[in-house]
Amino acid sequence: MLDDLYQETILDHGRKPRNHRKLPNATHRAEGYNPLCGDRLVLELRVEGERIEDVAFEGCGCAISQASASLLTTEVKGTTTALAVALSQRFRAALTTDETPEGLGELECLLGVRNYANRVKCATLAWHALTSALETGSTVTSE
Ligand code: ZN
Repeated sequence: MLDDLYQETILDHGRKPRNHRKLPNATHRAEGYNPLCGDRLVLELRVEGERIEDVAFEGCGCAISQASASLLTTEVKGTTTALAVALSQRFRAALTTDETPEGLGELECLLGVRNYANRVKCATLAWHALTSALETGSTVTSE
């Protein structure tokens, strides 16, 4: 029952990804590529001060990678960069252990992939891009 619900969320986000568009005036940007599956995406953020004002992604790949990127945008929009990085770490840690930390929200639906080692990279792709955009400052210069 719960599994069906989780599956439903992934399929819904995979079919109709949220915030799948180009982001005007992006301040941060990172690309992700998963050669195991062929997933590609570009994640763009507009950060003002500490706050993530907007976030969007473009690209294509399997349902897991698209759903994960889509859920990422809905989870981190409006939050702070520090909270977004913390969530990324929590989510990626949860995928490589059997523990389910608090506060993952809808992201919990993706934890089913931890039983499939080669799909874990699909689920973490967008989150690696998020961390690299925010931490290594691969920023877009907008004049
Ligand atoms: Zn994939």
